[in-house]
Amino acid sequence: MEHDYSKESNIRFPTVAVVGGGASGMMAALTVAKVPGRRVLLIERQQRVGRKLLATGNGRCNLTNRNAAPGDYCGTDAAFAAPALKAFTPEDTLAFFRELGLLTVTEPGGRVYPLSDSANSVLDVLRFALEERGIVIHCGAPVEELRRGKRGFVLSGEALGRLEADAVILACGGAAGAKLGGVTDGYRLGKELGHRRTALYPSLTRIRTEAELPRALKGVRVQAGLRLTRGGVLLAESHGEVQFTETGVSGPAGFDLSRAAACGGDRLTLHLRLLPFDEETLLGLLRARCMQFPALESAELFTGMLHNRLGRVVVKAAELPMQGTLSSLTDAQLQAAARQCLDFCLPVLGVDGFDAAQVTAGGLRTDEFDPRTMESRLVPGLFACGEVLDIDGPCGGYNLQWAWASGALAGRLGA
Ligand SMILES: Cc1cc2nc3c(=O)[nH]c(=O)nc-3n(C[C@H](O)[C@H](O)[C@H](O)COP(=O)(O)OP(=O)(O)OC[C@H]3O[C@@H](n4cnc5c(N)ncnc54)[C@H](O)[C@@H]3O)c2cc1C
Repeated sequence: MEHDYSKESNIRFPTVAVVGGGASGMMAALTVAKVPGRRVLLIERQQRVGRKLLATGNGRCNLTNRNAAPGDYCGTDAAFAAPALKAFTPEDTLAFFRELGLLTVTEPGGRVYPLSDSANSVLDVLRFALEERGIVIHCGAPVEELRRGKRGFVLSGEALGRLEADAVILACGGAAGAKLGGVTDGYRLGKELGHRRTALYPSLTRIRTEAELPRALKGVRVQAGLRLTRGGVLLAESHGEVQFTETGVSGPAGFDLSRAAACGGDRLTLHLRLLPFDEETLLGLLRARCMQFPALESAELFTGMLHNRLGRVVVKAAELPMQGTLSSLTDAQLQAAARQCLDFCLPVLGVDGFDAAQVTAGGLRTDEFDPRTMESRLVPGLFACGEVLDIDGPCGGYNLQWAWASGALAGRLGA
């Protein structure tokens, strides 16, 4: 017969059920289990915990970002995230994992990865810690129903059966990464207890643009400045690596604008600044090149400055004759080429869906939770953390940092 700790303990929540064995749920469970005498149940609908974690960072797991600060996050009320992020900073994440035995390395931009370069290492140390702290794990057991019971909460599901808990931490993640188990269960379970959610959008995903130009550039990578506009009004900007795909653009800098592209409505334009010069400087370089290589074909105007396929596409988009020589180009044509290179425009058609997205923008309404504890303002004893809430971050370790930080705060159960 299972030992019933609740009978001998006078702590506020003797039995705690964590729904969702992803990043935030594992962190929450480990934090709850720090208090002796507490019984922690970690319930996961998939066959194993941390499945999405294994796919993060292309299998390398970008587990945090040393530069992550509260101001980097988005949501209807992004300030909601601040107390959790201040209480558990990227340095705390590193210390936490160091204590579990994980060695890490920091790459440019503050991105932190396991030294082993394998997300498996991150999951392994978490699993060992869950085991060591005696956390009871139910895998392959989706929570299908969550309701208030006489004493606390009743959780049930066909494979799970019926469980009772004094407190519940909802850590079900969001709809993104559907192939890795991203589901909308968390919003539904929250709703069963009276919580509402905002609109949901896929974020950190490919931006789909009119395809003619990107298709010719498929696979080309470039460091660029990006701006997203609507009717000439700037909506968002980013800088970094962009990769052209068959249907548009991906890469970290493109991903960082995907949230704005998803929520921004129609008639959006993506502007790429393909070289880090002002127009005068670039024009000077192009003039000098025409003098130095007068016999070169005009299609080669940017050769040596841009990826050759990209250079040719820019020349074509600027409507320069592709067959003539550099000596035949007029100053007005060079100006058109420079402008095209510094403001390469792609009309936006939308973004890829939740299947391909890394994160969900939107989620359970944060005004219904207390940011100092992550406890529900509607249902005492109900806590939430991670992506299920209406908070999301940019590409580069920010979303896992939110998962760890909010999970650690929720796991304190208001103490
Ligand atoms: C391909 C990909 C790559 C990514 N790379 C990075 C990266 O490198 N760095 C970064 O910071 N972020 C990255 N992210 C985002 C990051 O993985 C998530 O933001 C983070 O995992 C969210 O943690 P979470 O605990 O809230 O949700 P999840 O990690 O999604 O965990 C939620 C868990 O709850 C379970 N669950 C759902 N419903 C139920 C239910 N009814 N009953 C029981 N269990 C349930 C799910 O099966 C899941 O295991 C990536 C995401 C994807 C999809």
